[in-house]
Amino acid sequence: MYPAPFHYHRADSLQGAISLLSELGDSARALAGGQTLIVWMKLRFDEPQHLVDLGRIPDLSRISQEGDEVRIGALATHAEIAGSAVADLLPIVRDCGSGIADAQVRSRGTIGGALGSADPSCDWPTLLHTLDAELTCTGPEGTRTIPVSELVEDIYTTILKPAELITEIRFRRPPANSGGSYTAFKRCAPAYPTASAGVQLTLEDGDVCSDIRIALGSAGLKTVTSEEAENILRGHALTEASIDKAAEAIVAAAEPVPDQRGSEDFKRAVLRTLVKRAVDIAVRRCHGETIRGHHEYV
Ligand SMILES: Cc1cc2nc3c(=O)[nH]c(=O)nc-3n(C[C@H](O)[C@H](O)[C@H](O)COP(=O)(O)OP(=O)(O)OC[C@H]3O[C@@H](n4cnc5c(N)ncnc54)[C@H](O)[C@@H]3O)c2cc1C
Repeated sequence: MYPAPFHYHRADSLQGAISLLSELGDSARALAGGQTLIVWMKLRFDEPQHLVDLGRIPDLSRISQEGDEVRIGALATHAEIAGSAVADLLPIVRDCGSGIADAQVRSRGTIGGALGSADPSCDWPTLLHTLDAELTCTGPEGTRTIPVSELVEDIYTTILKPAELITEIRFRRPPANSGGSYTAFKRCAPAYPTASAGVQLTLEDGDVCSDIRIALGSAGLKTVTSEEAENILRGHALTEASIDKAAEAIVAAAEPVPDQRGSEDFKRAVLRTLVKRAVDIAVRRCHGETIRGHHEYV
């Protein structure tokens, strides 16, 4: 189906985009890669009268590491991030970016759009929870920082104010002896995950887990996290039994929705397996093993 008619505007600066979005009000949407928004418009889930294209705004797709801070511009595409020096440094970033959809979607879709869509099936929000990322957001009232854990109010709804845009994603490079893994289970490449799990952990004195973050995607209306699960592992040597217990705890916090991708029980079983697999890969990466992460296909 074709989308309803709309007016197209191309912004050439961040302030220009914000002014235009403010002026046009609720009838306008920011357009980044269009890989979600245009699909929603074709399906008539959304019928904006105006699109404000952010694609030509300079400097919003820069990916850099300064000191121990990683910064990713909101317009960086999934492919650019997966192929960046940051992904060389942090394999969990490549696991995520290289597994999103197919080459076409990866070369158009942006990390800012994935966050802005507040779609619980999108991979970046889940990954960014494991890295405690913060978002720089700019709107008519100025610039503020929003922790990624606070961005989403409800499915497809963020706490962003009218005309407010995500401009940059920032997180600290994990300390030495850290490893991470992001893994998803999908029907095929151009499909959203049936379920996904990200784990980022730090070890000390061999196998004692001094810190850990676990997050689940496609597991409810928002990204799912569980302090209970993390506390089972934090401060203790990792054993098969404790990893099983932590996986049970976070899967208990999930609320997977049954759909054409599987029943609730099936999704819980997949999530349990993904968490254990992600912990295993994260630990092996901590120990210096080079493991190519990949998404699992049905
Ligand atoms: C066939 C197909 C398969 C896909 N599979 C996956 C998958 O496996 N995993 C996955 O994660 N994603 C998947 N996607 C989604 C894809 O990753 C999108 O690119 C992404 O979700 C949205 O990014 P975008 O740049 O295209 O945003 P757009 O579609 O342009 O925008 C999406 C929403 O975010 C808002 N927005 C855009 N930029 C900003 C900003 N800077 N600040 C605030 N709000 C903003 C827009 O107004 C809109 O509401 C798939 C898409 C398709 C079409």
